[in-house]
Amino acid sequence: MKSYDVGIIGGGASGMMAAISAKRCGVSVALFEKNDILGKKILATGNGRCNFTNEDMDPGYFYSDDESCLRSVLSDFTKEDTLSFFSDLGILYHQREGYYYPRNHQASAIRSHLSDEVYALGVDVYLNTEVMDLDTDHNRFVISCKDRSFSFQKLILCSGGLAYPQGGNTGDGYEFAKGFSHSLMKPLPALVPLDCSEPYFKFLKGVRAFGKVSLYLDGSLTVSDTGELQFTKSGISGIPVFNISRFATRGLEEKKKVEGILDFFPDYDEETLFTKIQTAVSRGSKNVFESLSGFIHEKILNEALHNLHIPPEKPAELLTKEDIRLLCHNLKNWKVRITAFKDYEFAQVTCGGIPLSEVDDHLQSVYHNGLYFAGELLNADAICGGYNLQWAWSSGYVTGCHAAKMIGS
Ligand SMILES: Cc1cc2nc3c(=O)[nH]c(=O)nc-3n(C[C@H](O)[C@H](O)[C@H](O)COP(=O)(O)OP(=O)(O)OC[C@H]3O[C@@H](n4cnc5c(N)ncnc54)[C@H](O)[C@@H]3O)c2cc1C
Repeated sequence: MKSYDVGIIGGGASGMMAAISAKRCGVSVALFEKNDILGKKILATGNGRCNFTNEDMDPGYFYSDDESCLRSVLSDFTKEDTLSFFSDLGILYHQREGYYYPRNHQASAIRSHLSDEVYALGVDVYLNTEVMDLDTDHNRFVISCKDRSFSFQKLILCSGGLAYPQGGNTGDGYEFAKGFSHSLMKPLPALVPLDCSEPYFKFLKGVRAFGKVSLYLDGSLTVSDTGELQFTKSGISGIPVFNISRFATRGLEEKKKVEGILDFFPDYDEETLFTKIQTAVSRGSKNVFESLSGFIHEKILNEALHNLHIPPEKPAELLTKEDIRLLCHNLKNWKVRITAFKDYEFAQVTCGGIPLSEVDDHLQSVYHNGLYFAGELLNADAICGGYNLQWAWSSGYVTGCHAAKMIGS
């Protein structure tokens, strides 16, 4: 049986970072990946551009069960460390509204430069190699693949969660962890589109509108976010919806009543909007629809007028103050009933996983010495903006360095 100091299961973002970090400490490292290339999922990130970190790396944008552990990991490998790491690998980057991308806007550059570094350092990479079983023997970890086994002094599980199964994720790491007494916070899709019950979505499909979405669970305001809302044929999507989705999926799972309130004018209070609409409709000989089509996407306007039984062709000057008040209220308090969420296939990350309370600040298992976890497998997720990849880089770095330093201990 071939043996190494450190074994790493999963050659995604966190696995490659763990392999590089461990190997740079001078130990022998093997990396196992079931796909035919390393970092396949990275190619899909940031719409093919890979938003790999963010200028504002506030831990408040992350969710986990142990904030102190999360903060410790993020401070051991910071956004500045990420930028200089990729810069040293030969990636030129640029920043837009706080989001960092490779300057050539190609996620493939991030993937290939990481992969090249893994090979250049002399990590033994096993592609097309699915780890099927994990056990221990005389204080060493033993993994079984289809036709052979390997043993290690330290083992890092970087096998991801359940999001984006097209990239090879089937949640294998959860089962491996359970074998070492770890519990599992129920994994659910996050950063995912949401389905709503209203019949009008088929007419709104494809519409994009600036707005704020507020999520109510059993009538209580839970979270809100503002940005470009997108309508699908069955519900709502877009970055603000992704950012609140982890609470919606958990709420639906817990059988709570889940509602969203859309505000298409978060920058105006109802009084200001009232004045603006009143001015617009008093402008001349147009009908209601023509007078207000410069305010909001015409499909949303049509639906709002339909809801209030106001004919779009009604002469604008005949709109009453009460009509205008109702319209303002409707456009700022557009209620949708959220009934379902899209499957992992459409999710960018998994929320839930191995609790951070079951690992130390180096992400080493509190139940089994020498066993580490990194990346999406852990119960740590974040909003859109490069935070989830930063977690993969930071956790990969922390585990790789610590596992290597502890060789022989
Ligand atoms: C469409 C999309 C867009 C995204 N865009 C962004 C973005 O722009 N910015 C951002 O910060 N985040 C983004 N994310 C999230 C980000 O990709 C993840 O947070 C990150 O990839 C997690 O890294 P990981 O190493 O934990 O897991 P993964 O990258 O999923 O890697 C896990 C690897 O383990 C392998 N594996 C699993 N089981 C086994 C096994 N038994 N044996 C061998 N190998 C195994 C898998 O094949 C996989 O390659 C996006 C995600 C998606 C799906």
